[in-house]
Amino acid sequence: MYDERHVLVIFPHPDDEAYGVSGTIAGQIAKGTPVTYACLTLGEMGRNVGNPPIATRESLREIRKRELFEAAESMGLEDLRMLGYRDKTLEFLDDGVLKQLVLNLIDELNPSVVISFYPEHGVHPDHDATSAAVRDALAEIDSTKRPRFWGIAITKDDPEIEYSVKPFINQKISTIKAHDSQFGTMFREYEKRYLAGEQEVSERLENERFHVYSFDDE
Ligand SMILES: [Zn+2]
Repeated sequence: MYDERHVLVIFPHPDDEAYGVSGTIAGQIAKGTPVTYACLTLGEMGRNVGNPPIATRESLREIRKRELFEAAESMGLEDLRMLGYRDKTLEFLDDGVLKQLVLNLIDELNPSVVISFYPEHGVHPDHDATSAAVRDALAEIDSTKRPRFWGIAITKDDPEIEYSVKPFINQKISTIKAHDSQFGTMFREYEKRYLAGEQEVSERLENERFHVYSFDDE
């Protein structure tokens, strides 16, 4: 894991951090690095309301908020920002709203790296709206002062950065489990496979991977 001044994580949904970044967040916090996680919505349009259904859209908002608090606690994260935008609407926000939000966070926190989805490779419209805002915000900052941009890419191979988060695997598993309304049933199976020592599962879970975004002026 790298030495950082401050890590800023920006995702649209509670749970976006769980599989790809929670080991990094826990690891950086363990090293004493300040970490801020800005979560733009409360995921009330999430695909799972439980089976049998445990929630309406409104109560899902409250449930996911609680789950996100629990996830933050699992990672040791103290600076959690819930921005409260409506789920599945980020792409319809006025131009520049999210970009300004990202610029304000960078201005306030002076991070050395910003982690989000990788532009145009997030699959979900909220993911791509978020990463576009991060990219556009960072592009406005002078290249000598610009934090690095690491993206989680769902549809792009060969990440430039990959490292083990195995020392923080218990925290990572707790973080995933905290998002019970979304991952509960699925993860219980996955965890069994992990505990049984299945190589492919260990490989996925114990390593985190990022694509480094390059700006035109670099
Ligand atoms: Zn998401």
